Amino acid sequence: MSEVRVRFPPSPTGYLHIGGARTAIYNWLFARKHGGKLVLRIEDTDAERSTQESIQGIIDGLTWLGIDWDEGPYFQTAHAAEHVAAANRLLAESKAYKCFCTKEELEAKREAALAAKADYKYDRTCRCLTPEESAAKEAAGMPFVIRFKVPDRPGTVAFDDKVYGVVERAYADIEDFVIVRSNGAPLYLLSNVVDDIRDRITHIIRGQDGLTNTPRQILLYEALGAQLATYAHMPLTLDLNRAKISKRSHGEIVAVQFYRDHGFLPWALANFLVLLGWSSGDDREIFSREELIAAFSLEGINRANSVFNYRPGDPKFFTDPKALNINAHYLRTMPVEEIGGLVAEELKKEGLWDPAYDGERRGWYLATVDLIRSRFHTLKDFATLGRAYFADEFEVEPQAVEKNLRKNAELKTWLSQLADRFAALPAFTGEETERVAREMAAELNVKPGLLINAARTVVTGRVAGPSMFEVLAAMGRDRVVARLRDVEKFY
Ligand code: GLU
Repeated sequence: MSEVRVRFPPSPTGYLHIGGARTAIYNWLFARKHGGKLVLRIEDTDAERSTQESIQGIIDGLTWLGIDWDEGPYFQTAHAAEHVAAANRLLAESKAYKCFCTKEELEAKREAALAAKADYKYDRTCRCLTPEESAAKEAAGMPFVIRFKVPDRPGTVAFDDKVYGVVERAYADIEDFVIVRSNGAPLYLLSNVVDDIRDRITHIIRGQDGLTNTPRQILLYEALGAQLATYAHMPLTLDLNRAKISKRSHGEIVAVQFYRDHGFLPWALANFLVLLGWSSGDDREIFSREELIAAFSLEGINRANSVFNYRPGDPKFFTDPKALNINAHYLRTMPVEEIGGLVAEELKKEGLWDPAYDGERRGWYLATVDLIRSRFHTLKDFATLGRAYFADEFEVEPQAVEKNLRKNAELKTWLSQLADRFAALPAFTGEETERVAREMAAELNVKPGLLINAARTVVTGRVAGPSMFEVLAAMGRDRVVARLRDVEKFY
C-alpha cells in the first residue's frame, strides 16, 4: 500500500461536535496505525456560515483531545480557482455541459413530475444543445450552471465500502448534477473531490451521511482521471429516541468544549467517542492511546448506528453514563501526581487551593485526592462533591440530613459525645476512630452504621463516600471534632 493519507475536513460553521470529533479520531487512529498522514482541511466554502471563531474552536478542540495532524490546516476557499478549472476541464472534454434552463422552467418540470407521481430528475434538455446553440445562448447573456454529464450507460456505480460492503447506484438514477453555480461558484461536491485528489487522500473515512454523495463523487474522480480513494462510512450516532444527535435538539451536550468545561480528561472522552461505532471484537472498553492505535481497524467499525445514551434532565447523569464511567476509570487509575495537578487547577478556580498543598501538606493533599477519587466521575467533582475536604463551608445533601440525622433526634447528643471521645484520643487514626465509634455504638445498643452514617453526613455532607474511618483520618482531628460538635445546626 502506498502511504496512507487521510483527512479531516470540517465545515467551520459551529463548534467541534462530538460526531465530528469521532470522525477526526478515526482518521487519526488510521493514520497513526499505518504510519500515514492526517490532513486537516477547513471546508469553508459556505461564506455566510463559516466563522473564524469556529475554525479556532475546532483547532482548540482537536488539540485538547490530543489529535494531532500532519498537514494543514488547508482552506478550501484558497483553492476555488482550481475547483473551477477542474469544471472547465470537464467542459472542454465534453464530460460536463452548460445548462441554461431557468429556475422557473426547472420548477415547472419538477411540479409536473410531482403531479404525475414520478421522481424528478433533470431531463437533460441542455445536454442535447449543439455547441453552436450553447455558444449563442451564452453570447446572448443567458446565465448558466455547469452540469456533470452522467455517463449514459447501463449498470451501476459500485464501490466496496470498508464498513457497508458493496454499495451500488444505477447510472440511470443519477441526475446530471450541478458542479458550478450560475454565479461561477463551484459546488461543494466538486470542491471536495478536487481537494481530495490534490491532497492525495487514499482513504475517505466519513459519516454515513456522506454516502449519498459517494456515487457522484466517484463519477467525478473517474472523469478527472484520478485514482479512486477507498471509502469507509461510519454509522450515525443517535439519541435514545433514535434521532440524530444535534446541537438544535441536544444543545451543548454534543460539543467537545462541554466535556472540557465539565471536568473530562481528554483521552477519556476520546476513548468513549471511539466506542460509539467501533469495537475491538471483544468487550474491552478501556484503551490507552497506543493500545487503540494497535487495535483500531476499519473492519471494526459497526454498521449499526450507535446510541448516545443521554436523558435530558436526568440530574444524576448529565451525559451518557458510559462517558462518565470511562472518565471515572481514568480518574481512578492515573498516577496520583498527575491527577493531583489537574485537581489543583479545579481547586484554584474555586478558591479552594492552599499553597501548602504544594509544600508541607503535599503528602496530605495527594493522599486525600487518592482517597476521594474512587467515587468521582469528573474533575469538577473534587471541588463540588469533595469540597468538604478543602473548605469548612460546604453543602450538605438534604437527603443525607433527612436519612442519617433527622430520623433520630438522639444523634444530636451522641455525635457531640463522639466528638469528645475523638478529642481525647491519643492518636487520631482510622483504627482508633473505628474502635471508639464501635465501642460507643455497643454501649448505646445501636448499630455502628447509625453513628457512622450520621458522622459522614456532618463531616462530608454526603450520603455515601469512601470508607468512613479513612475519611476521618484524612479530614484530621480538628475538622472532624468541630463538625461533629456543630451537629445541632441540622435540627
Ligand atoms: N465538510 C464536510 C462535513 O463537515 C465533510 C464531508 C466529507 O468528509 O467528505 O460534513
